[in-house]
Amino acid sequence: MTGDNPRYNIYSKYLAGKFGGRVYKLPVNLPGTCPNRDGTIALGGCIFCDETGSGFQCLPNTMSVKKQVDENREFYKKRFNAEKFIVYFQAFTNTYMPLSRFKEYMAAAACSGDVVGISISTRPDCVNDRYLDFLQDLKAERGIQIDIELGLQTVNYRTLRRINRGHTLAEFIDAVLRIHRRGLEVCVHLILNLPWDDREDVVENAKVISALGVRYVKLHSLYVVENTVLGDLFRSGRAVIMPLEDYVDSVVLFLEYLDPGIVVQRLVGKGPQESVIFSNWGTSWWKVKQMIEQALDQRDTWQGRKCGYLNGSALFKAGFPDS
Ligand code: SF4
Repeated sequence: MTGDNPRYNIYSKYLAGKFGGRVYKLPVNLPGTCPNRDGTIALGGCIFCDETGSGFQCLPNTMSVKKQVDENREFYKKRFNAEKFIVYFQAFTNTYMPLSRFKEYMAAAACSGDVVGISISTRPDCVNDRYLDFLQDLKAERGIQIDIELGLQTVNYRTLRRINRGHTLAEFIDAVLRIHRRGLEVCVHLILNLPWDDREDVVENAKVISALGVRYVKLHSLYVVENTVLGDLFRSGRAVIMPLEDYVDSVVLFLEYLDPGIVVQRLVGKGPQESVIFSNWGTSWWKVKQMIEQALDQRDTWQGRKCGYLNGSALFKAGFPDS
């Protein structure tokens, strides 16, 4: 794998090409919850979710949006020579709040010239037209990029039920279509090693998000933390996580079926340091990433190599469009 000739569409390169310079995401933590935790949809949340709502790397949510942006901006400037920023609303469900409050937070995020984008993490069943209309206007007014990160995890609706997501594939498709209609971008979160999914699900994940034409994908490897349903299942042997070699295989397979135009933000997740029972097979996330990149090299394969299922593939096999 060489940085000059990557075998998949790497996010940092894409951002540098689009905005010029070094672009970093600034995580911002909002006070909030999730309808899958507060009883609106369910209590307890997804079976792998801990109380931080997967926002363990954020500053405290008692700080204002501006203060979090300012503090993180200084850190990234000093540490990484960052020049431009995407404000990233990461933890919990960042559209699950009154519209007036949502507008205030988003406007506060887009207040400085070096902020080139906003990224908003949420659930597919919390995407509403009035919030999207506001974001469409904000994008035009401030000249920034706005993307909505949708937690999906898998397209297999039976697995979605098992992990207690509280929504199905249909809500995801509906959200993507409505976001796209307003000229906003979509990033999809997927977990390729859910114990109830197999290789067919891995391929179907790639096919569905390719067909929908999303801009970004972010892969997470499943981690297990204390005080979660998954923690209990894992300890009792009722949830078995695939070996590392199989995860590497799954990611390679996924990339082969993924539209080459989709930008890959991440190949492997980072688990929390504390209260973790299982994370990345006891090794570091970047070693897992390295193994995936080496596997792509060794197998001489790349993102999109098996992407011929798009655009009415049977017609091409029959030779009809050329006849
Ligand atoms: S949707 Fe997100 S915040 Fe809500 S329970 Fe699931 S992982 Fe946690």
